Amino acid sequence: MLLLIPGPVQTRPETRAAMAQDIAPWDNDFRPTYAAIREQVRAIAGGQEGVHATLPLQGCGHFIMEAAIRTFVPAGGKLLIAQNGSYADRALRLATEAGRQVVALPGPDTRPVTAEEISAALAADPAISHVAIVHHETGSGIVNDPEVIGPAVRAAGRRLILDSVSAFGALPVDLAAHPEIDAVLFTSGKCLEGLPGIGFAVARIDSVTAAAGNAGSWSFDLSDVYQHALRAGWGSFRFTPAVQALAAFQVALGIYAAEGGQPARLARYRENMRVLRDGVQALGLTPYLDARHQGPVILTVHQPADPAFALQPFVDALKARGVLISNFHNTKVPTFRIGCIGAITPDDMRGAVAAIGGALDALGVRQREAA
Ligand SMILES: *Cc1c(COP(=O)(O)O)cnc(C)c1O
Repeated sequence: MLLLIPGPVQTRPETRAAMAQDIAPWDNDFRPTYAAIREQVRAIAGGQEGVHATLPLQGCGHFIMEAAIRTFVPAGGKLLIAQNGSYADRALRLATEAGRQVVALPGPDTRPVTAEEISAALAADPAISHVAIVHHETGSGIVNDPEVIGPAVRAAGRRLILDSVSAFGALPVDLAAHPEIDAVLFTSGKCLEGLPGIGFAVARIDSVTAAAGNAGSWSFDLSDVYQHALRAGWGSFRFTPAVQALAAFQVALGIYAAEGGQPARLARYRENMRVLRDGVQALGLTPYLDARHQGPVILTVHQPADPAFALQPFVDALKARGVLISNFHNTKVPTFRIGCIGAITPDDMRGAVAAIGGALDALGVRQREAA
């Protein structure tokens, strides 16, 4: 089966194989693995030793996002969220339920937020202490670029939290050049092509140190994760980790480096996207985004107008042809989405396009323009 979803992604057999063992996370044979992972992901984030620290947390992307919001936005602080997609909606809910004051900057999920919009929102409300953006919005496929937004946040003297869960490893992040970023967040199971189970924050040490006592939760306190590392060492976890997923992640990071790191991964995903986007258009389907706003991670496609089309039967027909896509959509209008990330190649995408054509024919979908 070819998994074309934006996480958990298709992985390499060597990566999955590393999970087939029993491991004690505190064992002296395993601690160097964990410590090395922390250094490797800090390097991918463009972080610097002594300035940035990798602070992992057990669990999914929502958990690390909640931890970052609780840790960096103090209880009296105010968080501006560029609300241009369904993952931004999720960040808004996490922040609200953590009791933080939240200001939404609503925008369409068909284009990135602009530096001007962020600057205006910050000028209008001096009480805003932090800004959160979703790097790649997994609900539609747009990219909010920290290279564009970061300078606006920095100029206004505020702090930036970057949800890079579906972008990190493919789209570049350069923390050393962005002192306004408190933390970049990501997980083991998306563009770094590991198995799910661990969230990561690569965070500024000065911000983390200043954040002691903010979280209001022991489990979700990244400053406590940092303090624990100082006490017990960088190879030590506070609580039981998904240790097999960590072992697999080390293999995935080795594959990442051997492939050529971030530029090579982005180039492969871009080519996956090009083949897929051209292919679905040739089948008569309409992409949701303009080409200029199309990121490399997921392709969102309008559901066809033909009454013979329905999402679940389409997903089933595709699955029967060896391709699995999401059976839900995150846009207001009916769409479906296809992931271009994971251990997949442009040839896989050519196969996927053929499968999509076959599934549409099998369902008798002739009117393929947007519903
Ligand atoms: C996947 C994702 C998350 C987290 O999702 P989980 O299901 O909690 O792992 C957060 N933000 C973005 C942009 C994502 O793509």
